Amino acid sequence: MAIRILPPRIASQIAAGEVVERPASVVKELVENALDAHARTVAVETEDGGRRRITVADDGDGIPPEEIALSLERHATSKLAAIEDLDSIRTLGFRGEALASIAAVARVTLTSRARGAEHGMRLSAEDGVGRDPASVGAPQGTVVTVEDLFFSVPARRKFLKSPRTERRRIDSLVARYALAYPEVRFRLNQDGRETFTAPGNGDRREVLAAVFGLDAAERMIELQPIGAEDRVRVGGYVSPVDLSRSNRKDILLFVNRRAIADTALTAAVVQAYHTLLMVGRFPFGAVFIEMPAEDVDVNVHPAKAEVRFREPNAVFSAVQRTVRRALLGSSPAAGIPSPAPWPVRVWGSDRTPSPGPDWMLDHRPDGQTETAGERILQPSVLAPGEVPLLRPVGQVGAAYLIAEGPDGLYLIDQHAAHERVLFEAMQREAPGEPVTQRLLNPEVVELSAAQAAALSPQLDLVRRIGFDVESFGGTAFRVRSVPQLLGGLSPADALRAVVEDFEEDETPLADEAEARLIARVCKRAAVKAGQVLGAEEQAELIRALEQCSSPRTCPHGRPTMIHLPMDLLARRFGRK
Ligand code: ADP
Ligand code: MG
Repeated sequence: MAIRILPPRIASQIAAGEVVERPASVVKELVENALDAHARTVAVETEDGGRRRITVADDGDGIPPEEIALSLERHATSKLAAIEDLDSIRTLGFRGEALASIAAVARVTLTSRARGAEHGMRLSAEDGVGRDPASVGAPQGTVVTVEDLFFSVPARRKFLKSPRTERRRIDSLVARYALAYPEVRFRLNQDGRETFTAPGNGDRREVLAAVFGLDAAERMIELQPIGAEDRVRVGGYVSPVDLSRSNRKDILLFVNRRAIADTALTAAVVQAYHTLLMVGRFPFGAVFIEMPAEDVDVNVHPAKAEVRFREPNAVFSAVQRTVRRALLGSSPAAGIPSPAPWPVRVWGSDRTPSPGPDWMLDHRPDGQTETAGERILQPSVLAPGEVPLLRPVGQVGAAYLIAEGPDGLYLIDQHAAHERVLFEAMQREAPGEPVTQRLLNPEVVELSAAQAAALSPQLDLVRRIGFDVESFGGTAFRVRSVPQLLGGLSPADALRAVVEDFEEDETPLADEAEARLIARVCKRAAVKAGQVLGAEEQAELIRALEQCSSPRTCPHGRPTMIHLPMDLLARRFGRK
């Protein structure tokens, strides 16, 4: 075939494909236009998952009568005048492509009345060509109706998912904008059913409830921006550690109130939950990143869902640190409403001796005398992620330890607690110098074909945590040393214990993989339920747990302790 220039109609249908991939992309562009026009209310209606019809109505600035035909032209925009403007884009749109692209692949009707205009204008378009502009009576704002999406592009039509799937995408898309613009009222009606509304009263928690459900929304943790003078500020809400999802798709990210997709930042959020969630579970939430417009390039792709940061590492770390900080400040021990702040011993170079239970004995209702215990306890207030000093009381069922704290009773799962202690100890080991146990004689371990295939690419990782192991041909491996924690197992069992992990693994990030592996080792090494512990051992375990940085969960995310506040006990015994 000879080279020739494509007719404009085909060229624009091809170009439209980059902007309009599916019904949800149409909704996205039209909602963005409404928000750019300062709408207070945005109403979206769809039929048949958006293929039959999409209508977006707003009460924003509107389009002046003389500009309405122009708005459908490609590269027609009121939001950008010079290339330098790209550095400081504050609007969601700027490419002037959306209406033109939609009109290239669907029938479009545009009705708009600009603020202060005497009447509205209506214009229809098919194949990208606007027809019959007519003045009409209309309220201030804009209504865009898009019918028979892709009727002229059968190839694209084929790729659409079921109406149900498309409806779901539209639901989640509108929800994202509602989260980003809580001061705007949103209504979404799909096939005659109201599927989403947001009140527009500026209260983001109310929108969260509509998106994630009331229970989850009430328990979500608000992020506090750290470093007021930082260029990157992170806010929003994330799930508490005892709520999770089976995938990452409810981690909603926004940059300067634009919904974005970014695998690295999603990973930053996931990493913040590291060891706080069970393997294979993921957090959810809405994370809002604010930064100067010139630090982020939104002009990466016509759909504007991807952005590029001038300093991606700074953004990554700001997200991860902000989320982590919020989590550690708020993971409550299981089963209790989060306690009022309470005192804790400060762990410094001069270790205070265990104060014993004296603070419990002296209730001091008069507020006069100050006990030694109180002096110790006063210097700092317990961040809710930590645990107070505990007095060991005993063991029950050869599985749980009982301890007393300044505000009630603690039940501690000895296995989970020990896992946490070992995990943090192993993570503190100097990088590259794991504590290992050398075997007297190297041992050759024969693995299954699947285990060998899983282990081979991970030998470096396994060495980092204390195995000295090398391939010995076929599915055999020669082991010279094992992590000290697994010293009680045969070399074969020790190796198999970690290989199991690889078999389940997808493709974790390197340090995530290492932490998981360590968690696995600790699980094997930790004291089991059924083991009777002497008083000394109980006390030692409790002391070690107190010093952990995340004492309330095991590395797999299960709680290590249940706290029964004095209050609750008093109520249960009918004293209150
Ligand atoms: P962009 O949003 O990138 O500027 P669009 O093709 O989406 O490009 O829209 C073209 C222009 O039409 C916009 O710049 C704006 O001036 C006008 N416009 C589109 N939709 C609306 C709306 N809902 N309210 C007011 N003006 C609108
Ligand atoms: Mg636009």
